[in-house]
Amino acid sequence: MAERRSQGGFDLHTHSSFSDGTTRPSEIAREAAALGLGGFALTDHDTIAGWDEAREAAATVGIGFLPGIEITSEHDGRSRHLLGYGIDPGARGSELFSALDEVRRSRLQRAQEMVRRLSRDYAISWEDVVGDGDARTVGRPHIADALVLAGYFPDRGTVFERVLHPGSRYYIGTYAVATRDAIRMVREAGGATVLAHPAAIRQRGPVTDAELRLLADAGLWGIELSHPENRESWLPPLERSAASIGLEATGASDYHGAGKANRLGERTTGEEIVARLRERLATPS
Ligand code: AMP
Ligand code: FE
Ligand code: FE
Ligand code: ZN
Repeated sequence: MAERRSQGGFDLHTHSSFSDGTTRPSEIAREAAALGLGGFALTDHDTIAGWDEAREAAATVGIGFLPGIEITSEHDGRSRHLLGYGIDPGARGSELFSALDEVRRSRLQRAQEMVRRLSRDYAISWEDVVGDGDARTVGRPHIADALVLAGYFPDRGTVFERVLHPGSRYYIGTYAVATRDAIRMVREAGGATVLAHPAAIRQRGPVTDAELRLLADAGLWGIELSHPENRESWLPPLERSAASIGLEATGASDYHGAGKANRLGERTTGEEIVARLRERLATPS
């Protein structure tokens, strides 16, 4: 499977079967080692349930590990995925963990309602969606997988295009934390934040300079300028803003196992930036 060896570096954005990835955290660690990565961060959507397994497996295969999360947030009515690194799990009673509980609860209700709507036209049940999997956070990819398994569509991407996109009559939105609040909560729980895929092709446009400044004022540490789904032509102004604001630039694959075309380690973050991130985590605010 290791079709090429990388020159170290960390893949700072990966998903396991604890959210909407298809591989276990321990498999990601083994694949990362086989690729020659220096390490990786597990950033499941809205849950830290995979951290222990990932940390242990990373130690076993002898690569670095950074605990992370991808928080469902929104700014000015627009969806913003916020990566949080190095959060203290001992801060469990904190505002952050209550907010994450709320996000997962809302995702569950919304997914159940979407499945109710879909089941009028497609023979799928809630059982088909959740099955006996590990997922602590339910998302549209789980609904997509059930529809693929039932034979209605060939893959996740097609299901999103046809029935799961926001304009679909089966679609329902979900609760998201205000991005600036999420940045503060992560900081209060000892972590640091990076704005994920700021120029994602599925967005109407790139995140603006004004928004980046607001988020930086709230404590944002970095921006994921290298991501397979960032639209290249939107990047130059973002790179200028990030440099002028003093945001760190990261790179990552957003690996989802077989759930997406993104390959583990196809984008990475250099070890000097990872070292600065670790330094930031060790510095109290
Ligand atoms: P949700 O979390 O329920 O809003 O679903 C969004 C998640 O679905 C994202 O985190 C992606 O992992 C995944 N996703 C979005 N679009 C696609 C697509 N076209 N193909 C595969 N996965 C997708
Ligand atoms: Fe995802
Ligand atoms: Fe994302
Ligand atoms: Zn992601």
